[in-house]
Amino acid sequence: MSAVAFHDKRQELNGETARVAPKKRTLPPVIFALAVVLLLVSVSFFTSRGRPAGQIFQYQHMLMDTAVEIRFESGSSREANRLKEAVFGEMERLERLLSRSIAGSDIDLVNRQAGQQPVPVSLETLALLGEALRYARLSGGAFDPTVAPLLDRWGFLGQQYRLPSPPEIEAALRLVDYNLVGLDTGRGTVFLANAGMAVDLGGIAKGYIVDRGMEVLKEAGVRNAFINAGGDIGLIGSRPNGTPWRIGIKHPRLDQKYAGILSLSGSLAVVTSGDYERVFEHEGRRYHHILDPETGYPAASLASVTVVAPTATEADALSTTLFVIGPERGMALVESLPHVEAVLITPGMELLVSSGLADKFEPGN
Ligand code: ADP
Ligand code: MG
Repeated sequence: MSAVAFHDKRQELNGETARVAPKKRTLPPVIFALAVVLLLVSVSFFTSRGRPAGQIFQYQHMLMDTAVEIRFESGSSREANRLKEAVFGEMERLERLLSRSIAGSDIDLVNRQAGQQPVPVSLETLALLGEALRYARLSGGAFDPTVAPLLDRWGFLGQQYRLPSPPEIEAALRLVDYNLVGLDTGRGTVFLANAGMAVDLGGIAKGYIVDRGMEVLKEAGVRNAFINAGGDIGLIGSRPNGTPWRIGIKHPRLDQKYAGILSLSGSLAVVTSGDYERVFEHEGRRYHHILDPETGYPAASLASVTVVAPTATEADALSTTLFVIGPERGMALVESLPHVEAVLITPGMELLVSSGLADKFEPGN
């Protein structure tokens, strides 16, 4: 049986006052057998009750190794089609700039010159790398965009998974240090101090790209929309009938089941990081793609982290950060950040919900 604990210091839940310490409840067997399959997170959409709005258009496109889904209101299919091209075009442009596995991307060029010379990059790359370094400092290096050499030892980039030997891990860890990234905003260059170092923005770039896609929709005057890039969700407004968006948080161990549902509206982002995404088993142990730069091994104190924040950039960076720093420090960090909320699921399937989500989260049953 799973358990649910509400991390809630203030509010009443189901008529019972939550205590300061996280409160445990028994989670009934998860029977959220909703029809939508194989999506990390799914968003149930509109019913036509209530005020009539523009038509709803929905599109899918493969980007960043995932099926990116967008839904928005528009007055005509011609306009919707034009907008869809603009959104996906912008997202594709950014992927080509920020992905370390695309030859000629800013990040690829920086990595090739590690230990040799500073590389001029676009202002956007410079700014996002600056953000990544900010989260690195905030987390004392739990989030570290220079984790790439370690990811490569584990085979996570090319999905050729393998268990590295302890000396290999030690050698890779010597190349992981966000303090050795030289960002020269005046010259617009990035320099990695040592040969063998490499930057990977996998923990933050998808969120940024979702934000830019949302921006295209907002600038076009769209009031209700969402973008889902494999669990990195941006949303604006509400469902067209005026009720909040409903976002399912996937159960980390039970396929096609939800650990809970978030009801949210406004201009927000919801990002989930899970230990079930890129994962392999070796001698009965699971190894996944979020690595603890302190140990060199996959972070093991959480199974799933969902962060709600004003931007997907912030939610993405924080979801990876919380995954590494674990439930206690993670929840303390969330509670210290204004406008940031989280749902954490421990390896024992205990749910921890930050105070601001108490009335927006229903556990699955
Ligand atoms: P995804 O949505 O792709 O699962 P996450 O936001 O969960 O992404 O981040 C996982 C990715 O972040 C990894 O694939 C890797 O590129 C990168 N990463 C892994 N460990 C760390 C870390 N400690 N700090 C920063 N980035 C990391
Ligand atoms: Mg992330």
